[in-house]
Amino acid sequence: MSEYRNVCYLIHFDEPVSGVQHYLGFALNLAERIAKHRASEGARLTARANARGIGWRVVRVWRDADAGAEVALKAMVPKNLCPHCNKRVAWQKARSEKSSSARVA
Ligand SMILES: [Zn+2]
Repeated sequence: MSEYRNVCYLIHFDEPVSGVQHYLGFALNLAERIAKHRASEGARLTARANARGIGWRVVRVWRDADAGAEVALKAMVPKNLCPHCNKRVAWQKARSEKSSSARVA
């Protein structure tokens, strides 16, 4: 992970933390930053998740980012950026379409 420098990263929480499912941050060195998050020194949100035993993981990384990229990404809906959530949304959508067509038949 040492080549992950100047990155924006998206953390997905297994359960919402204070009503929030994602954390988006910027790091000069991702490995160091994640180690800080694991030690509850990275951000209030990840510290809270750790304290409550809520699992989390980095689901996406944008390389060669800067503060401008962080602002741009933060302006977006995190769920739309999260591959984990998108997969789930796709699955739920497929399931609801299947059950509604079964109802029609
Ligand atoms: Zn997510």
